[in-house]
Amino acid sequence: MLYLCSMNATKTPSILIIYTGGTIGMTENPETGALMNFDFEKFQLYVPELKRFPYHIDSYTFNPPIDSSDMEPKYWVKMTQVIADNYDQYDGFVVLHGTDTMAFTASALSFTLENLAKPVIITGAQLPISKLRTDGRENLLTSIEIAAARDANGMPMVPEVCIFFENKLLRGNRTTKINAEGFNAFRSFNYPSLADAGIRIKFDSILIRRPNPYLPLKPHYSFGTGIFILTLFPGIQREYVDVVMQMKNLRALVIKTYGSGNAPQKPWLFEKLKELDSRGVILVNITQCSQGSVEMRRYETGLQLLQAGAVNGYDGTLEGTVTKLMFLLGQDYTKEEILKQLNTSLAGEITLPED
Ligand code: ASP
Repeated sequence: MLYLCSMNATKTPSILIIYTGGTIGMTENPETGALMNFDFEKFQLYVPELKRFPYHIDSYTFNPPIDSSDMEPKYWVKMTQVIADNYDQYDGFVVLHGTDTMAFTASALSFTLENLAKPVIITGAQLPISKLRTDGRENLLTSIEIAAARDANGMPMVPEVCIFFENKLLRGNRTTKINAEGFNAFRSFNYPSLADAGIRIKFDSILIRRPNPYLPLKPHYSFGTGIFILTLFPGIQREYVDVVMQMKNLRALVIKTYGSGNAPQKPWLFEKLKELDSRGVILVNITQCSQGSVEMRRYETGLQLLQAGAVNGYDGTLEGTVTKLMFLLGQDYTKEEILKQLNTSLAGEITLPED
């Protein structure tokens, strides 16, 4: 299913490229014209510069490579496993991934790779690497350089799960895809970029997380299910929420609220949410706004959600919140423990008020 292949045998630093699929490695099907994945060997044809790096570069390919719309938690487990199994042999990891669900994968890996002390840089492209005007070449080459970058003490510059795209290095679990056409496809609205690539790659070391060097990597391999996302809109009907109430095995409800975490003041909505809470369902309040944080005590319309049992999702992204819940539900935690973890920044995914 997966195989490991060696590209060259130069010495340090050593980088493992994990190719999962996505537009970066796609070519047109001559019969249908639709884009489909090719295998990693072709990258060397289209990016001969790969051989010019003074690094040892190996690759690991998903077989078959997938369009990231087909991404599933089982593949996050697989990526976690590949990184954990190869952790000691490599200085950094570059994950090639479709852009559609890249932010979900980046968020998920930031939770499964506890105590990560090496760079995991996820990148892809809006135009296939086989196209002349591809953005994939730059994204790939700079990601490799970032994965290999060390500071003056020889420590990795960015020991985090990040997305590198269109000259910006973003914390993975803060990132959202915002553009289906332009090359500038990702944003981190609530956390600044960790590095900008121009003539030089400028790292902002104050913003980069530093792991505790005494703790070993602790990979996690399970994700829970039973999560639903409820987006509020003016005119929302109780029947719509009733569908949620009837869901079997519902364990967590992410409520996408207005502004700073507000909801319409409908008694039936309050009662239904309260009932879900008493049934043990975890309610997380995140805002529909791209930027800013939830503050449930700011307005009456937010306070009612707090009173119904909703927990603050702070300034987390949808991708970060959903994958964090999947991760937490996959561990052996009680509801109280999960609520505590939701109020903790595990991998820099939220900004707590005192931060
Ligand atoms: N559908 C593609 C994917 O996410 C889009 C891309 O890679 O840009 O795999």
